[in-house]
Amino acid sequence: MARLRRLLLLGGTGEALRLARELAGHDRLYCISSLAGRTEQPVLPPGAVRTGGFGGIAGLTDYLVREKIDLVLDATHPFAARMAQHAFEACRELGLPRAKLVRPPWVASPGDRWTMMPSVQAAAVFLRFHPVHRIFLTVGRQELGPFLPLGGARNGARWFLTRLVEPPDGDIRLPAGELVLGRGPFPPEDEAALMRQHRIDLLVTKNSGGAAGKIAAAAELHIPVLMIERPPLPPGDIVESTGAALAWLNTTAL
Ligand code: NAP
Repeated sequence: MARLRRLLLLGGTGEALRLARELAGHDRLYCISSLAGRTEQPVLPPGAVRTGGFGGIAGLTDYLVREKIDLVLDATHPFAARMAQHAFEACRELGLPRAKLVRPPWVASPGDRWTMMPSVQAAAVFLRFHPVHRIFLTVGRQELGPFLPLGGARNGARWFLTRLVEPPDGDIRLPAGELVLGRGPFPPEDEAALMRQHRIDLLVTKNSGGAAGKIAAAAELHIPVLMIERPPLPPGDIVESTGAALAWLNTTAL
């Protein structure tokens, strides 16, 4: 019987989880899911799982050789630019097949009030010069720093409703305001209720794509959005859905 081909599935997204579930018991592929280890209580995929950084491009290259990996599917978040670049570089070095699974971005519809921002830092600068007061901040735990100076007791200071997946550990400072915890997807009606309850007048979000409850709610309530644009992708194969990723894997693992 032919040896199972060994797949490294770079995860931390709902798509990676769905793929790992689909691949459990695959007749040609043995899947190892990789998580960065950022969340205390991640939803664990079935099958083999490894956790934590590899140690840059060199560490990843070593890992791929040591673990006899045959192919890599990068299903990390569209904003996980460093991991995507490292996967590209390491696979190029070793001549391994690699594809990036990236869900389509959200696209503004007529009536949406989006202002595109090139980065989280740019969004914070924008806020400094615009008269908005109650901001729904959904950029993730690692990106809060630029917003910290905007809150507080000063005249015209901003109030933030910051949403995180898990309670922050002791080292993390939050912008002035309130913290709400939750793991998506969030239905549009719940998002609208939350925004009404907190009298939100602006949403700050990355263009993550996928379930769009907060985007639909902002449109319904005519709330403007600072939409942070995606970082560029490294070159190479791109698939936009788990179905397309499975097709790529089945073709590549033949
Ligand atoms: P990043 O900036 O691209 O990566 C930073 C470092 O974290 C990488 O260089 C790598 O460390 C390690 N890393 C990232 N993803 C990894 C994975 N799947 N397995 C092993 N190591 C990984 O990534 P990030 O934006 O911090 O995202 C971290 C994780 O959270 C990713 O798995 C991503 O899918 C998930 N996530 C990110 C966002 C977001 O908005 N950025 C949102 C939802 C989920 P070494 O250099 O040491 O190998």
